[in-house]
Amino acid sequence: MTCLHNRHIKPLIFANLTGDNWGLDEYVKRGGYSSLKRILSEGMTPEQVIAEVKASTLRGRGGAGFPSGLKWSFMPKNYEGQKYLVCNSDEGEPGTFKDRDILRYNPHSVIEGMTIAAYAMGVTVGYNYIHGEIFEVYQRFEEALEQARAAGFLGDNILGSSHSFQLHAFHGYGAYICGEETALLESIEGKKGQPRFKPPFPASYGLFGKPTTINNTETFAAVPFIFQVGAEAYAGLGKPNNGGTKIFSVSGDVTNPGNYEIPLGTPFATLLELAGGVRDGKKLKAVIPGGSSVPVVRGDVMMATDMDYDSVAKAGSMLGSGAVIVMDETRCMVKSLLRLSYFYFEESCGQCTPCREGTGWLYRMVQRIENGQGRVEDLDMLNSIADNIQGRTICALGDAAAMPVRAMIQQFREEFVYHIEHKHCLVPAYV
Ligand code: SF4
Repeated sequence: MTCLHNRHIKPLIFANLTGDNWGLDEYVKRGGYSSLKRILSEGMTPEQVIAEVKASTLRGRGGAGFPSGLKWSFMPKNYEGQKYLVCNSDEGEPGTFKDRDILRYNPHSVIEGMTIAAYAMGVTVGYNYIHGEIFEVYQRFEEALEQARAAGFLGDNILGSSHSFQLHAFHGYGAYICGEETALLESIEGKKGQPRFKPPFPASYGLFGKPTTINNTETFAAVPFIFQVGAEAYAGLGKPNNGGTKIFSVSGDVTNPGNYEIPLGTPFATLLELAGGVRDGKKLKAVIPGGSSVPVVRGDVMMATDMDYDSVAKAGSMLGSGAVIVMDETRCMVKSLLRLSYFYFEESCGQCTPCREGTGWLYRMVQRIENGQGRVEDLDMLNSIADNIQGRTICALGDAAAMPVRAMIQQFREEFVYHIEHKHCLVPAYV
């Protein structure tokens, strides 16, 4: 993990962290649990808590960027049965590695954020679904839960109030598709992790058929800080409608890959500089700005783009989960697409035909081009298959498989054509 101690950028969620100070005492020394204490002791109403989160302009940090306060307000208020709160820590997309570091180095921020959210929505039971391939992080979160329970920050009558919240860690099985919120719910219920048809949405029919709100790890981790500094100050850290800071996982051809927390709206050029610039002084070729499922953007366009939801959308892509994959001039786009399309082919849950069959077609056709057996008409065929997947599947994995294909061919068509005509790569390093 990389913590930023830069005079322009003050880290918030990752503030003052090293590998040793993740525990409760250190968290409390850093002001941890003060937001929860204040909310409960000052008698803030659930409606006031939701209003504060809305005013902060916090948007979901898992990928969709949906306004968090608005999402919380969808939870039925007068429902008399069990309601659930779920944290989605099933981080498994290529390029993403921020949530595991939050859980590893600042697990109490997630616990405090979830406990505040539970109070705001009148929920008494919650789960944190942690990706199956990171067992040590799951163990750490379990330890943090024990600490919080022993100190009275979790459990019955928290800090002497009437608010009770039982929070459990749930260790997943490592399937990428379980990061899709309804597949995640199925998995917690003990079933095969496959997405459900929507509607009904989880707010009305979620875990065990009960109203459920699901947020990403980083979203919950940001909540205590909002109540420490106030919604206005938090929103002011970013840009209008893009409040606060965001953790970007920078990987690929940079000198210092790692997690960087910066205010939303910071220029991409600044983020790249923080990561030490393009490795070995090479030229920037392309960037995937939000995890492998979002369209690739040419390097010159990214250098003129700010890192917030709206600016990245204007550049033709999405901020997604904030996984920034940097590619230098030696990267072969055919080979890169081959790696991506294999991932989606491998991770398709197989429920719907366009995704199950289409991801295999995409992979095999890109493989054919990579192996020097492609035809120029394959490029139109790839676009056509992508068109027939996108928007025609139960969940967004189909779109996630289709979008990189269309974007790669659109942005770097000349490279694909060269590969087909010469049966090898345009980029010298791969010839
Ligand atoms: Fe499964 Fe793919 Fe359909 Fe999603 S789009 S439900 S992953 S087959």
